[in-house]
Amino acid sequence: MYKLDERLAKLRPAVAAPNECRIRLDANESYKNLPDYMIEDIKEMIGKMEFNRYPDPFAYDLCKGFADYYGIDAELVTAGNGSDELISTINANFLNKGEKMVVVSPDFAMYQFYGELNEKDIVQVQKREDFTIDIDAVIKACNDNNARLLCFSNPCNPTSLGVVKSEVRRLVKSVDALVILDEAYMDFWDNDQSLIQEVADYDNLIVLRTCSKALGLAAVRIGFAAANLTLTTVLKSVKAPFNMNTPAQLIGTGLFKYPDHLRQNTKEIIESRDRLEKNLREMNETKHIFTDILPSNNNFVVVRTPDADEICRKLREKSISVANHHTFIRITVGREWENEAVVQALKEM
Ligand SMILES: *Cc1c(COP(=O)(O)O)cnc(C)c1O
Repeated sequence: MYKLDERLAKLRPAVAAPNECRIRLDANESYKNLPDYMIEDIKEMIGKMEFNRYPDPFAYDLCKGFADYYGIDAELVTAGNGSDELISTINANFLNKGEKMVVVSPDFAMYQFYGELNEKDIVQVQKREDFTIDIDAVIKACNDNNARLLCFSNPCNPTSLGVVKSEVRRLVKSVDALVILDEAYMDFWDNDQSLIQEVADYDNLIVLRTCSKALGLAAVRIGFAAANLTLTTVLKSVKAPFNMNTPAQLIGTGLFKYPDHLRQNTKEIIESRDRLEKNLREMNETKHIFTDILPSNNNFVVVRTPDADEICRKLREKSISVANHHTFIRITVGREWENEAVVQALKEM
């Protein structure tokens, strides 16, 4: 008789099915669909696709489009089926069962999820009360524990705070662990704070990017890892050979044909986020619902409150979904009317 391993029997899916809310500001997606001319372009490319052939295992055209957009060498780029897949692949293959990995808390939950799944030994470093990271404490945790991997997001989901480049450099240089620097939201902060253009200078750095946030392609599942040639060769060797399907490669390649559109679009999302943040602050000055509103570097605004559960429940009654982190709430910037609706709903509380 087959007996399921107890560790597996206890698992539940990490992500819930999409909810039915009228206003969904809980998943940090872009609120803008692709423009019609790009959709037409994509349809034409897919129409010419050879459905019977395997995809390019290295997604070369896609990686080249990405590399040109960020001014890096395409040889140092690996594409993944979402950066999620890359987090999973690196975690599963770059350290052995029982080896230590360091995460900071709070941070993106998937690092720990894959760590636990792959039976890695997780060391958590708490962030400070104001959600900033004590870089020296992270360095110490890595070195004292002989950690083989350190993962963190910059700027951070879910706190929206960023660590400046000089500090990230110091961190990467001060540890022997491999560092996954997840820059999923860097486009919303400042690409000058990114280490993506200097990955070749480190033996222990993998920078992750995604098409799901600023680039508005969450449906298609495209992420990238940039690293030196040695790490890139390993990553390309351990990933599933045909991890990127041809439609995704074509769509992503099509997207990067319009760099001006992508930059302009990102700028507009940042402007709406700034308006959302400002409107939340104005509302809070009279209503005092939140103890703090954090300065946003992402496509969401973080508000802190001990009443997060109740506020999220009341918003849900109005068919508005936001991300409840229990001591704080993460509100993704949406379309103008959605942002107004959430501020209005909070005003009425
Ligand atoms: C959304 C998100 C990702 C994921 O992206 P996919 O490319 O869609 O898998 C990765 N890291 C962080 C921190 C995110 O918030």
